[in-house]
Amino acid sequence: MGLAIEITQQPVFGTVRALFLFIHQVEQTKIARNKHQGTHDMHELSICESIVSTLKSHAETQDFSRVKVLRLEIGKFAGVEIEALRFCFPIVALGTVAEDAEMEITLVSGTGWCEVCQSSSDMLERYSSCQQCGSQGLSISSGEEMRIANVEVE
Ligand SMILES: [Zn+2]
Repeated sequence: MGLAIEITQQPVFGTVRALFLFIHQVEQTKIARNKHQGTHDMHELSICESIVSTLKSHAETQDFSRVKVLRLEIGKFAGVEIEALRFCFPIVALGTVAEDAEMEITLVSGTGWCEVCQSSSDMLERYSSCQQCGSQGLSISSGEEMRIANVEVE
């Protein structure tokens, strides 16, 4: 459902390896979701499926058998319902390397860029105006992303 995943770094910390992965949500997903209210679970379900399939494929290439901790960073405007995600994940992960993985979620606040005064601004809402000059239409620079910050594996 419009999710693309890539690895950015693979550092090694002693016996615990951490994988750094990104999930980029395609704008299309959000639009589709907004048009069809009531399909929220499907959206979070597909995110969980993407995460689990990513973990599965990396389990093969990185040679680990179990994910102990899964740390996610979710933007405030990513359109992801945390509760739905927490609900779906154990179901999708059942019988996989991610079964019983502990999920830690960090919410990433929103920031935007103002073209008018060329400054960065905190955004409480998706349509917040510039805190410096009050202009509308900031371009969102963070808060829409969803990222697997790191994964503890064994
Ligand atoms: Zn401004």
